[in-house]
Amino acid sequence: MRIMAQMAMVMNLDKCIGCHTCSVTCKQAWTNRTGMEYVWFNNVETRPGLGYPRTYEDQDTWQGGWELNKKGRLTLKAGGRWKKLATIFSNPKLPSLDDYYEPWTYDYANLTNAPAQDVFPVARPMSLISGKPMNIRWSANWDDNLGGSQEVAIKDPMLKGIEDKVKFEFEQTFMFYLPRICEHCLNPSCAASCPSGAIYKREEDGIVLVDQDRCRGWRMCVSGCPYKKVYFNHKTGKAEKCTFCYPRIEVGIPTVCAETCVGRLRYIGLMLYDADKVLDAASVEDDQALYEAQCDVFLDPNDPAVAREAELAGIPLDWIEAAKKSPVRRLIQDYKVALPLHPEYRTMPMVWYIPPLSPVVDVVKETGHDAESKDNLFAAIETLRIPVEYLANLFTAGDVATVSNVLKKLAAMRSFMRDINLGEDPDEEIARAVG
Ligand code: SF4
Ligand code: SF4
Repeated sequence: MRIMAQMAMVMNLDKCIGCHTCSVTCKQAWTNRTGMEYVWFNNVETRPGLGYPRTYEDQDTWQGGWELNKKGRLTLKAGGRWKKLATIFSNPKLPSLDDYYEPWTYDYANLTNAPAQDVFPVARPMSLISGKPMNIRWSANWDDNLGGSQEVAIKDPMLKGIEDKVKFEFEQTFMFYLPRICEHCLNPSCAASCPSGAIYKREEDGIVLVDQDRCRGWRMCVSGCPYKKVYFNHKTGKAEKCTFCYPRIEVGIPTVCAETCVGRLRYIGLMLYDADKVLDAASVEDDQALYEAQCDVFLDPNDPAVAREAELAGIPLDWIEAAKKSPVRRLIQDYKVALPLHPEYRTMPMVWYIPPLSPVVDVVKETGHDAESKDNLFAAIETLRIPVEYLANLFTAGDVATVSNVLKKLAAMRSFMRDINLGEDPDEEIARAVG
């Protein structure tokens, strides 16, 4: 056993209001520089939607998929004559400017100096690259608030195979927000694909960083990260990525995105894990077993044997104590209500999500209530407005049973707390039913 500590984050998606405060404050802190105009270490996606950069989740297109190599390890797959090169350099497809967006500013002179006319003038978008007026076709928040009812949302790769379950009628459509940062993976493919060895995972807390002096601008990390969370700085010619605000973490304050989050939905904390188990867990062949495999890698610091081993491994005592109390650990390990984003990418991501609990379509239609009455609480999970299959495609590689179980726990907790808040006796049976 090789015990290591890892900084991790859990986001409760039911609480995200899509205000983008996290993205803006992160940008002000980290990427407010020339060459980084299009870069969002933190972005907030509207789901269904194409994400940012566009369709990064369509791994068949971006990565060519995954395959087991001769040594039984999973590697990125690519087709045709590029295959050999792609295996060495992760994959041949790099996001283009069109997949991000062409950065622009506004020409306010167009607004203030416009002559009297029939139509009210607007500030025109001007390209920061060419300096010319532009027609904007795509941006980081392009599908914001489209709510699954528009053509672009229907192209969401996560809807593949469940199109017939998704209703695009106005009253039954669904949407939610998915804030994203770098996953600070236990098995970071960005680091594995860097020919210069510039990307490293910090021994003490697992934060993944780019050594700016060693980076030679190959950009293999950009294509090698399945979450597309490394960016190329066009001014410096180096790769940059989310740093988990390590200078703040080192002095005991949270990341900028967590501190400024309007919904207070980001939990930060330490996890302990067995580094010897990581590669085997990432190589589990059955996609749907990956969530459990990753959970098996985590260790419980409340176990005296684990705490003793952690101390011997050099993890500071106050860190071990922090891991015991960590809200992240409790949500992932004790309550099992948080799930990893795309475990099938096999990088062992460490930003996890509590999936959104949406209203139940049929019950809403029939009663006008939001289905939290005890009678239909569990029976209705299958008819949630957000199809369980869609959430499963995001968080469990299609394992519907695991997501349903989490949703039932969340529904039970909400019903239980509602009773308490109303001054009624909570129904103990609900708690027992979800374990
Ligand atoms: Fe690297 Fe991407 Fe994982 Fe971040 S999300 S650690 S950039 S592979
Ligand atoms: Fe969501 Fe919080 Fe970001 Fe607002 S600040 S978009 S609530 S994660």
